[in-house]
Amino acid sequence: MRAITLSNTTLSSRTDYPAPSPREGEVLVRVLCAGVCETDLQLIKGYMGFSGVLGHEFVGIAESGKFKGQRVVGEINCSCWACPTCEAGAPSHCPNRTVLGILNHDGAFADYIAVPQKNLHVVPDGMPTDVAVFTEPVAAAFQIPAQLSLSRTDRVVVLGDGRLGNLCAQVLSGICDQVLVVGKHPEKLALLDELGIETALVPDAPRDRLADLVIDCTGSDTGLPAALALVRPRGTIVLKTTVAGTQQMPWAPVVIDEVTIVGSRCGPFDRALEALEAGSISVLPMVSQRFDLSDGVEALDAARRPGVLKVLIDVGA
Ligand SMILES: [Zn+2]
Ligand SMILES: [Zn+2]
Repeated sequence: MRAITLSNTTLSSRTDYPAPSPREGEVLVRVLCAGVCETDLQLIKGYMGFSGVLGHEFVGIAESGKFKGQRVVGEINCSCWACPTCEAGAPSHCPNRTVLGILNHDGAFADYIAVPQKNLHVVPDGMPTDVAVFTEPVAAAFQIPAQLSLSRTDRVVVLGDGRLGNLCAQVLSGICDQVLVVGKHPEKLALLDELGIETALVPDAPRDRLADLVIDCTGSDTGLPAALALVRPRGTIVLKTTVAGTQQMPWAPVVIDEVTIVGSRCGPFDRALEALEAGSISVLPMVSQRFDLSDGVEALDAARRPGVLKVLIDVGA
């Protein structure tokens, strides 16, 4: 089959890659469309030391199992369901897990992917595949309200106007009245302006420390210090993006101001599908470019360019 593979940070477009053989509990999914994410770009730089087929945001058709013949999306953590962490109700943190396209499990930039049946969710009939392919990152944004109890009056600042910053801002503006997105790209901020979400360029960002909640979606080691400069004493900072490497910063302000720092990763797919179906999250304007799977290497190059939001890879029909 065709596949975009990573081996020692070298990207290849293959036509001779063996199709996955589903293990017990797994279903073969024929991929229709996949999305490129910041994590894919980090993996290419060596994050996690991943080798194999890239891609973890996808829509496909289940070839077997109880959803056979239907369009599906899949949660990315493949858990053992038998260890104390899984039994305690935190399977996405299972120490024995593999992760689609990220950790010891081939991903979705390929004609076929093997996914545990338990991870699959059916895509509602009327939902375009191009919308459903955003389920995974929208779910990640919904992890913030799943972790924190938010109130209407909370003042929220989202740092970063990229793919995840946009989605976090949309999710939070459905919950809190005052959401401000601070970014570097006027054309990306314009998409949020159109949705009625307040935005500011970095030089015009507020200098007072009034935010109850700051979400770092910068993907940069400058994100956390910037968040600390905005959050109020006893406020909360949510770290939404992973930065490869070691970060150096003075931690005393966190202690002095009793700031809560919350790490946040994968989120609830059912909640994301509900919001996408209701149209309360707008995703199609984020699609900047699309490529056929055969041009998958070019797709990953394109996703790295400034000004580009979502790049989609068309795999099948
Ligand atoms: Zn992702
Ligand atoms: Zn487990």
